[in-house]
Amino acid sequence: MNAPILVFIEHNNKKVADVSLELISEATRLAKKLNCEIHGVVLSHNAAEELTQLGHYGCQKLYYVKDKRLNHFSSVPFAKLVTSIIKKHQPQIVLFGATSTGRDIAPRVASELCCGLTADCTKLEIGSHSIKDQTFDNTLLQIRPAFGGNIVATIVSPESNPSMATVREGVMKLNHPETNKKVEIISEPCDLSDSDFLSEILEVIREEKTVDLKQARIIVASGMGASTPECISLIRQLAKTLGGEVGASRPVVDAGLLGKDHQVGQTGITVRPNLYIACGISGQIQHMAGMSEAKRIIAINNDPDAPIFKIANYGIVGDVKDVIPKMIKAYRG
Ligand SMILES: Cc1cc2nc3c(=O)[nH]c(=O)nc-3n(C[C@H](O)[C@H](O)[C@H](O)COP(=O)(O)OP(=O)(O)OC[C@H]3O[C@@H](n4cnc5c(N)ncnc54)[C@H](O)[C@@H]3O)c2cc1C
Repeated sequence: MNAPILVFIEHNNKKVADVSLELISEATRLAKKLNCEIHGVVLSHNAAEELTQLGHYGCQKLYYVKDKRLNHFSSVPFAKLVTSIIKKHQPQIVLFGATSTGRDIAPRVASELCCGLTADCTKLEIGSHSIKDQTFDNTLLQIRPAFGGNIVATIVSPESNPSMATVREGVMKLNHPETNKKVEIISEPCDLSDSDFLSEILEVIREEKTVDLKQARIIVASGMGASTPECISLIRQLAKTLGGEVGASRPVVDAGLLGKDHQVGQTGITVRPNLYIACGISGQIQHMAGMSEAKRIIAINNDPDAPIFKIANYGIVGDVKDVIPKMIKAYRG
């Protein structure tokens, strides 16, 4: 068996983060090509029962560091512990969620191990890579938009071990859980001194999400061509009529017209609804990165050459102010 793939598992003491389950799922796909196991590492005060579900998604071994000082995330101790687990178990690939936690510790770990790290990958593959007269087989190909989304780059770091990548929530598909699969939980020591904890977290206040686009089956999204208060009100009405949620392109969010939880795209949320209605959205690559896997896409745009029509299943050339009221009327009967 080859060296394993290691996934950094995030959780909030009650629930394993969706992104960690998605990374385990993606690791199962990569592991088939690499003929290796999938391992996880969890650092926690009390993660307990919910960890068993990691096995259902394909995690075979879980290194569990339990200590009451790990109740809240803290950069230095978390990075130290993950580094020591990597040194001890020698994985060939390490995956982190591109969350605030993953983005904080992954570069610290990469720097400590002198290895490469690619942030915000949108695709991972296993392939060969040649440099001069040397060929590296079974290398992690880390694929992500680069230069403001103008190119899609494949990044490799075959000469350093392990290859490390972060991936945003929603980008990788979840496996169907198989409840008969079990994970072996292995206790690991917490070799930290109190001086490793440079700060003390007294209280955590969580801001609840106003909208959960990831779970929405229908999304009606507002772009700059549908960003007046009148248009946003029409979009809300259409979403309500269809039982869907309201999404948005980034400039609509940047302009403060809708909250960040509504943003779809490369720097927003990746969604896979049954139906995505893009209203006044041009279809730039950074937006499409977040919605192109919707089962059905309807685009409404007054420019017949708008790029969004290239990926839309149904295109309506027209003014959103005319088209949306007609759709609402038609759906209400
Ligand atoms: C690093 C980086 C990350 C980014 N991340 C994201 C991201 O996560 N999500 C994202 O969305 N963008 C992102 N962007 C921005 C992205 O490049 C585009 O600028 C953005 O998606 C464009 O938004 P839009 O389609 O709403 O606006 P525009 O490009 O301005 O398009 C407006 C469209 O509305 C149409 N229109 C105008 N009036 C009407 C009308 N009355 N009726 C019908 N149609 C009309 C126009 O024909 C046009 O096609 C990112 C950019 C960078 C550089």
